[in-house]
Amino acid sequence: LKSKQQFDAIVIGTGQAGPTLTSRLAGAALRVAVVERGRFGGTCVNTGCIPTKAMVASAYAAHLARRGAEYGVHTGAVSVDMKAVHARKARISAASREGLEGWLKGMANVSVFEGHGRLEGPNTVRVGEDLLEAPRIFLNVGGRAFVPPIAGLESVPFLTNASMMDVDYLPEHLLILGGSYIGLEFGQMFRRFGSQVTIFEPGPRLLSREDADVSAAILEILEAEGIEVRLNARVDGVRREGDSILIDAFGLRGSHLLVATGRRPNTDDLGLERADVATDARGYITVDEELRTNVEGIWALGDCNGRGAFTHTSYNDYEIVAGNLLGGASRRVSDRIPAYALYIDPPLGRVGLSEAQVRATGRPAKMAIRPMTRVGRAVEKGETRGLLKILVDGETEQILGASLLGTGCDEVVHSILDIMYAKASYKVIQEAMHIHPTVSELIPTLLGDLKWIA
Ligand SMILES: Cc1cc2nc3c(=O)[nH]c(=O)nc-3n(C[C@H](O)[C@H](O)[C@H](O)COP(=O)(O)OP(=O)(O)OC[C@H]3O[C@@H](n4cnc5c(N)ncnc54)[C@H](O)[C@@H]3O)c2cc1C
Repeated sequence: LKSKQQFDAIVIGTGQAGPTLTSRLAGAALRVAVVERGRFGGTCVNTGCIPTKAMVASAYAAHLARRGAEYGVHTGAVSVDMKAVHARKARISAASREGLEGWLKGMANVSVFEGHGRLEGPNTVRVGEDLLEAPRIFLNVGGRAFVPPIAGLESVPFLTNASMMDVDYLPEHLLILGGSYIGLEFGQMFRRFGSQVTIFEPGPRLLSREDADVSAAILEILEAEGIEVRLNARVDGVRREGDSILIDAFGLRGSHLLVATGRRPNTDDLGLERADVATDARGYITVDEELRTNVEGIWALGDCNGRGAFTHTSYNDYEIVAGNLLGGASRRVSDRIPAYALYIDPPLGRVGLSEAQVRATGRPAKMAIRPMTRVGRAVEKGETRGLLKILVDGETEQILGASLLGTGCDEVVHSILDIMYAKASYKVIQEAMHIHPTVSELIPTLLGDLKWIA
């Protein structure tokens, strides 16, 4: 064992919070040790948002090429070169990873340790032969795919979101366990690449967190593209037969199996017990509103604290911790408004509460819904699937939430999000002059249709 090395701060994990936090700490003249056991940039950069959205873009190009004739454009037969799709995705992901790695390694006041970091006490982290000590430790260890106990799974070569990144061929028939965000994004993209796709969802509808009408519209979009969706379909066993994977209970045979049944935090091998850091029953590190753990001097940021599951929530965690620690701020997790997108095509942009959540609060509220077939821009683009839905507080006039499923809606939803942060009346948007022709110009019209909900 080498001698102990002293730092002012240790950051474990280079996901979406760790690197920028490191930069802020080092910029405040603190000596920082950064520990990374895998590829720099973590999930988003290597196996999450960036590569999947690059692949979604390839899938969209294939889809539009096939629909060319609808627009009067003839291309001949469309074929997808999976090696080229893979190479494009890998290039985009690598550029991001390498940029981040170079940035961290070149940072003044920062020492980078490549290896598995494990707590040995409340101020001590071991990385192989190195023992690091600091009064402040920031955990940004993220998560990985949760693989449920399914009979026979260990005997079939199943895929997760991570190993999907190596797929540079076309699966003949992709079976997907899980009808939530990750399963749906992969399902639609591989259908568009040319695979047969079957999705198994144990619940009665896709995306149980969304409102039933939104789930139904998404189901319709996927089925219209030839994806088979099995609802109320819990898969308890799988079996290998030659090169095929069999799900006997449903009489189905596929060539490949993707397990997309949720995520779990990377906290099982972090030595948390050595420092008495508390977790919840599922292993997420327990934090307060400022992301402090129960142990003085240890913070947890990003997916591992269970307070968010997105790149933007992890980055926001960094802003909260850095602001409070170095900027004299008093930012809190509960100040942020839930927001995310589902990147099927067309995308779902979500902010605030769903209709079901608003109804559960029992407060007086108004709602408006408009199908995308009544949005001029969508008609012009030939992309009329989806719906716009918004809810406002009947007394304060503030917007409570929105589900925008339609072309461009991952962007459009931000006009609503910003007005929610401003705590302004919905009438500010309703009276604003918007640009024609856009999807956003229909938000004032939508707000003109608000009706009380019972
Ligand atoms: C398929 C997929 C698609 C996604 N798409 C989106 C999207 O479109 N938009 C969005 O906002 N979010 C998306 N997400 C979620 C997003 O990727 C994560 O929320 C985001 O990466 C935040 O992660 P993080 O900062 O908590 O840590 P991570 O990015 O998971 O990074 C954690 C890092 O810590 C390292 N590490 C772990 N344990 C140790 C240890 N003991 N010692 C040293 N290093 C360690 C890991 O190697 C990793 O590099 C997607 C996720 C998946 C899986």
